[in-house]
Amino acid sequence: MPELNNTFCWSFSQAKEFAECKRRYYLNRHGSWKGWDAMAPADARAAYRLKQMRNKWALIGEAVDKAILDVLSRMVVNAPISEAQALERAARELRTAWKQHQTGKWREDPKHHVCIRELYYNEITAEPGIDRDMWVERVKGRTDTCVKNFFTHVLPQLRGLAAAQVLPVARVQQGDPEHFHLARVKIYAIPDYAYRKDNCIVIHDWKTGMRRDEHERQLGIYGLWAHTKHGVLPPAIQLYIEYLESGETQPVGYDVGKASTMCDFIMESVNQMRKYLVDGDIDKNEPLPIEAFPKTDDLARCRNCNYREACNRKFVGLVDNE
Ligand code: SF4
Repeated sequence: MPELNNTFCWSFSQAKEFAECKRRYYLNRHGSWKGWDAMAPADARAAYRLKQMRNKWALIGEAVDKAILDVLSRMVVNAPISEAQALERAARELRTAWKQHQTGKWREDPKHHVCIRELYYNEITAEPGIDRDMWVERVKGRTDTCVKNFFTHVLPQLRGLAAAQVLPVARVQQGDPEHFHLARVKIYAIPDYAYRKDNCIVIHDWKTGMRRDEHERQLGIYGLWAHTKHGVLPPAIQLYIEYLESGETQPVGYDVGKASTMCDFIMESVNQMRKYLVDGDIDKNEPLPIEAFPKTDDLARCRNCNYREACNRKFVGLVDNE
């Protein structure tokens, strides 16, 4: 098997990490590299293990996403599944994650066995009790709400689509995820669902968390993906954010000006990241020493971060926001 290279790439989530905490960006992009290898340095293996942890928002998002993708893949081959079946599919994901955490196998194989962050950092215990039960109830309740709202508010818009209309989107679990190139830089962009309709490309992205201004910018990246990868001009690209907890749909405008703004945003972000590479060389993608990537002073960000252990910030406590 050829050796994997840690090539420079950009994504919306990386840009967010970079803006919020340089140390987190370093650990995600460089410090955890090769941490899957038992022969890797202990720091890399620890960072890789922490990187794989899921908190409740990630668990909800993944469970809902898998259930929805099942619904849609079955719908386009005329073998639909019911809302009850989708709810069970999502619930099964959550049960599996909980059980996987209990086995402790994530210590040796963090990629294939879920470690739950709230349990790892003792924010809740695995034993029955009010904190644990409330946590489980909220995760399950929000997951159910999102799946139900998908059936009520989103699925009716998608009924009647044929398999040939649906655009393939490579996901993280499928090797090299969906991407395009901008000025030689690989840009990852993984919209939840995209299809052709009436000479347009329509993209829906579902959110299981709260409404945030940054989501519009993220959808703009998906607009660039449709434009660059599928050769569709901006006026023929339709973008929708589906807030599944509330059942609201937010259309996102996209035109030539927006496309230009998104390109500028990406290249500015790339140029900032480049300053943290030796000689600014994105081809070599060799990071400056870890000390050049400062830890954030904002402990609220640490509270919602997997790397508290690596940063000696385990003391920051339970967080209830997204
Ligand atoms: S724990 Fe805090 S300082 Fe460390 S990577 Fe996370 S956000 Fe940054």
